[in-house]
Amino acid sequence: MAKHPQAGGSGQSYGQHFLFDPSILSRMADGARIGPADAVLEIGPGLGTLTKVLAQRAQRVAAVEIDKKLIASLRSNLAAYDNVQVVNEDVLKTDLAVLWRESLGGKPFKVVANLPYYVTTAIVQMLLGCGLPLLSVTVMIQKEVAQKIMIAPGQKGCCALSALVHYYAQPRILFPVPAGAFSPPPKVDSAVLHLEMLPEPRFQVCRRDSMHEMIRCAFAMRRKTMKNNLCATYGLSAEHAERILAEAGVPAGARGESLTLEQLAALCNAVARGAEDKGE
Ligand code: SAM
Repeated sequence: MAKHPQAGGSGQSYGQHFLFDPSILSRMADGARIGPADAVLEIGPGLGTLTKVLAQRAQRVAAVEIDKKLIASLRSNLAAYDNVQVVNEDVLKTDLAVLWRESLGGKPFKVVANLPYYVTTAIVQMLLGCGLPLLSVTVMIQKEVAQKIMIAPGQKGCCALSALVHYYAQPRILFPVPAGAFSPPPKVDSAVLHLEMLPEPRFQVCRRDSMHEMIRCAFAMRRKTMKNNLCATYGLSAEHAERILAEAGVPAGARGESLTLEQLAALCNAVARGAEDKGE
């Protein structure tokens, strides 16, 4: 396998930092508990070092790589594995439901990836909200982002991504990885984060996407109160926002980042009831 990838001029902009250390690759697959019955989606296989380890353990692997300059080397590096399908697409533009049916046999699946850091948030958000039978997500990401994701909603330092993660999954940091383990090394240290998906999201809300909207609302303007954010996001009057906060049992002056998931879910449902009352 080529040690120095010929990824072309696009390499840096695609967040290409390759992993060759077999012990780190094995520990990722161990952490994801990949076994012979598993269907695995890998995002950004690069030159296929992690893909090989996954292919040796799983039933099938779908590997989605954006960079067409890598595809020939990737296919040649994986030629010995007939349980791998390489897909040359931007994962954020792919129809995940089609990919899941056609390349993963439409069965419950796991995601394992050394993610491109410039799109970590977008990819994790997309996976959490995909509505497919996703079992777990095991990803190499920036260490600082992994640490932030671990902060539960309502606690100091939490963010929109951590709220969404805790709503759908149980997060755990598996192990840190120093920048020097990659070629070329990134500017930051990394960590492998494991998200064990919950059978159901932690709280029931009227519509799946209404929680995503409420979380965006809560963290939209961090210095503003939740009342202001509700008015701006849902076009409510101040009075209406106050009624909704009271109905959900949230103090009038609370800020979005101080709210627990339970409070955010109660707000979702109160907003939906308010809309129904108005006949919307
Ligand atoms: N898995 C390889 C490894 O561990 O050596 C490469 C990991 S590298 C950090 C991230 C990979 O994601 C690169 O191969 C990059 O081209 C690919 N990538 C970046 N953006 C992508 C996107 N939107 N969709 C699919 N792949 C993407």
